[in-house]
Amino acid sequence: MVLALCVAGCSNEPRPAGGIVTRADWQAREPNAGLSTYEQYGLTRPDYTTIVLHVTSMGHASGTAEAHRIQDFHMDQRGFADIGYNFLIDSRGTIFEGRSLDVVPSHAGRSVEADAQHDITRDPDYQSIGIAFSADTDETLSPAQVDAAKWLIRYLQARNPITRIITHTEVRQWLISRGLTPNEEFDPARCPGAGSIEQMIEIRTAVDPSFVPEDYRRLFR
Ligand SMILES: [Zn+2]
Repeated sequence: MVLALCVAGCSNEPRPAGGIVTRADWQAREPNAGLSTYEQYGLTRPDYTTIVLHVTSMGHASGTAEAHRIQDFHMDQRGFADIGYNFLIDSRGTIFEGRSLDVVPSHAGRSVEADAQHDITRDPDYQSIGIAFSADTDETLSPAQVDAAKWLIRYLQARNPITRIITHTEVRQWLISRGLTPNEEFDPARCPGAGSIEQMIEIRTAVDPSFVPEDYRRLFR
């Protein structure tokens, strides 16, 4: 299933449910046994309040082959139980369903405190939906990707109490603001990177201008 062609301005219009290529549609691999469930932490599925925007940093490509490429990389090279992102937007603006929101996401990193206390509620993935664009860090997003992202974010807002849309680069500051410590070396310029600064601002501004911090551009200098 492929998104209908979109002319300027139509990103404000609701798209049919077919606007997202489901896992069944693209024949995603089944997650492996290492998948973290909320139940194993004694939790139930939480409300998702945050969206974290990423780029794949693996070049740009499109179609189901691209969804498989990213899922295979995450599972076979990085050792993830499934694709890490909850949604992938390919270079033509097609939206692929990634990891189910019924299980623990894996895209935004971890905190020292969460690891020490085995408390996933203190990880940035907790309550965070990860959306990745097929693009390198120095690449500009395509207009189709920008339109698709605006549509997807509104779709998710209609179904989840979203209060925050940030980029992966901003996760570090977000953790620190909560008194938590990022546990990984994280290069702020790495994801989503300088190439898509203006599109990230455009996407977030279209949804809610308050979602863009004043110093966003400075994060990449
Ligand atoms: Zn990222």
